[in-house]
Order: sequence, then structure tokens, then C-alpha cells
Amino acid sequence: MPVSATSAKPARQLMSADDALARILAGVPALPSVDVPLLDSLGLVLAEDIAADRDVPPFRNSAMDGYAVRGDDVASAPARLRVVGEIAAGSFPDRSVGPGEAMRIMTGAPMPDGADTVVRVEDTDNASDIVTITEATPTGLSTRQAGEDLRKGETILTEGIVLRPAEIGLLASVGHARVRVRKRPRVAVFSTGDEIVELDQPLERGQIRDSNRYTLASAIRAAGAEPWVRGIVRDSPDALRAALRGAVEADAIVTSGGVSVGDHDHLKPVLSELGTIDFWAIAIRPGRPLAFGELRDGERRVPIFGLPGNTVSALLTFEIFVRPALLRMQGRQNVARPRTKARLLEPVEKVASLRFFARGVHDPDAETVRLTGPQGSGILRSMSLANCLIDLPVGPSRVEKGELVDVILTEAPEPR
Ligand code: AMP
Ligand code: MG
Repeated sequence: MPVSATSAKPARQLMSADDALARILAGVPALPSVDVPLLDSLGLVLAEDIAADRDVPPFRNSAMDGYAVRGDDVASAPARLRVVGEIAAGSFPDRSVGPGEAMRIMTGAPMPDGADTVVRVEDTDNASDIVTITEATPTGLSTRQAGEDLRKGETILTEGIVLRPAEIGLLASVGHARVRVRKRPRVAVFSTGDEIVELDQPLERGQIRDSNRYTLASAIRAAGAEPWVRGIVRDSPDALRAALRGAVEADAIVTSGGVSVGDHDHLKPVLSELGTIDFWAIAIRPGRPLAFGELRDGERRVPIFGLPGNTVSALLTFEIFVRPALLRMQGRQNVARPRTKARLLEPVEKVASLRFFARGVHDPDAETVRLTGPQGSGILRSMSLANCLIDLPVGPSRVEKGELVDVILTEAPEPR
């Protein structure tokens, strides 16, 4: 868990983003597994091994609309065969196919005994009494064997994988109407500040709308978690205390604002009273101040992330620190976005001692990246216009046009 906070920390003693993330990942718990309806499991991590309860497909069937025949009868064309019946998907053949015989068959219908090959309807004259096969057809063509997808008893999915549509289809095909997965974290989100107002309220002088609540709740949902919107908390210790106590049922808490060292920043004293908290000055821009700790209530410990109030800082620190934590809580091993390298199309000025996450537009074909425009920590459009973050390291105070830089592909999911 977090190291203890010391308010006397010299301003220069900044923590690296990598260290902060490592501490966060070490500090968050893995959530328990739960049993959910299959359709609610998309994107969650499987918490059990799954075996096939039967062969899939359960019976030999046709892959085409056509005629079920004996391969020997259609090795050369033309061939004329007597049509002895018809079989549609969902029914079962009531007789077998003998030499010189054919049965009309539809895609997915069970193969009759005796037949081992399907001739596509396009390769026949489509007649109903005596059919003429116009193309020689190799034995076994256009048939699917029982169990060719899944074998009864075989383990088809293992604990720890992320469920995508294909896996959900496999679960359905072996009869799992419910499935055991790692719990989706329920994340309380609130905004702090005396200047913050609800969207449906008139804006008085000096007030601003609560955009962070919506940004962060959406980012929580995009991370596969369930936002639990708790509204605005005023800048008073009592209000904050009540708000935190009311959120103790959450799996995690995300707040924005009130983590700087202003006179109205109360998160630190209140959370020190209700749990533990560390304030970290992280060597990044934007988003230098970040609080991480846990709210305690008896045995219960709820991780809390106090993000900065500036709109870009809040969303960016969520992306860098909170999203990986929420994925890890869901049992994901890989919590890092894919990265690439690209040529910078313009020079970028930065503070030498800080790692700078610039908002960028990456062109994967040209392998180039440019800034989205002004990069201030309150310019949320810089995030809206971006499809990536340009990750510029501590060290240089300027990165030149044409340099190869690291790009975080924030629109791509973490590899499974
Ligand atoms: P703070 O970290 O509380 O000092 O806030 C830093 C800046 O972010 C101030 O300009 C705040 O007005 C702004 N801010 C704080 N909370 C929000 C919010 N929920 N929505 C939009 N802006 C906010
Ligand atoms: Mg504030």
C-alpha cells in the first residue's frame, strides 16, 4: 500500500509516473468472481475453466444447400441420381441414402446415413425426381463432421481470458446461460469544488459546469467498470466526510479537484481520518498532483484516486493511472495500451524535468504524429481532437520536428 505522506516533501522531490503506477497496481485488490448472465459478461475476465458439454456441431451436417449423395456416385460427371427425399435444418432424415440415390439437403441439416458428400445445388440441374449432377465432386465435400469445432469434454476456454463476442458465442454453444467472471468494479465518482454547478442550473458569476463528472463517469464505463455518480461535494471537511462515508460500498472511488495545496483542498485531512492517503507530486505534465489511498470501514478497504480538477489533467491522469488499476481489479494481466513510434511533424517545447503527455493526432500510414493544438491543462478540446498521447520523456526541454517519438494508442484496447 501507499507510503505515508509527508507534507514537508521538498517541491523538487517528484515521483516518476512509472513508480506511481507500480504502487497503484500493487495497492489495488483483485475483485471476487461473480456469476452473471452470459450477455452481461462482454469484456470481463473469465473466472472458471469451461469444458464442452457435447460435440459442436452435435451431428454431421451439410455446409451447403444441395444434394446429399455417396461420393462414389459423383466422382465423375454428369451423373444421374434418384431423389429419395428432402431434409431441412431442424428436422432429421428418416431414411438413408443408397447407391444411385440423392437426398435434397439444406445448410445445417443432418446428413442422412449412407451419404458422405454434398453436391452444391449450383452443380446440378436442381430437379426433384431424377437429378443430374453436372460437376464431379470429391468425396466429403461440403459436409461438417460432428465435433469438428468442439469435442465433448474438451476444455475450450481457460480462466483469465477476456470475453469477446467469439468467446461468448462459444459459451452459448456449450449451453452456458450464465458464466463466472471477475466482478465489474462499481466506481463512485464525485466532483469537488464550491465553484462547480450542475448542468441544469444557471451559471452565476465565478461558477463553472461540472464537466469532470461526465468525463470521468464515461472513462470509468470505457474501462469496463460501472460508474456510480455521486454528484458535487462542496469544499468543506463535513461535506467531504459525508460523501466519502456514503461511498464505502463502492469498489473504488474517483474524485476530481481539491488535491492541490489550496486553502480549500480538504481531501487530505479528511481521508487521513477515514483511511490512509498519499499525495504524490508526479513528474508529469499535465496532472502533477495526484492522491492515492484507501477508505477504511471495518474490514473494508476501498481504493481512492484523487485526481486534479483541471479538465485535461483529470482525464489524462485517469488514463495513465486509474484505467490500468480498474483493469487490474477486473483480473486483467495486460493493462498497458499498445504503443508505437512516429515522426513528429512539429517541434514541441516542454519542461525538461517533467514527462510530457502531449495530445496528438497519429497517422498510422504516414507514421507521423502532430499536436492537437494548444495544450493547456484546461483545454479539453486537446483531448477531444486527439487519437493518441505523445509520450515525451524527462530530459529534453524541446523535441525537434522529425524526431522519432513514443506514441500511446489511446483508442486501441490493451492487448488481451
Ligand atoms: P482544483 O484542483 O480543485 O484546484 O481545480 C483546478 C481547476 O479545475 C479549477 O479551475 C477548477 O475550477 C477546475 N475544476 C475542478 N473541478 C471541476 C469539474 N468537476 N469540472 C470542470 N472543471 C473543474
Ligand atoms: Mg477545487
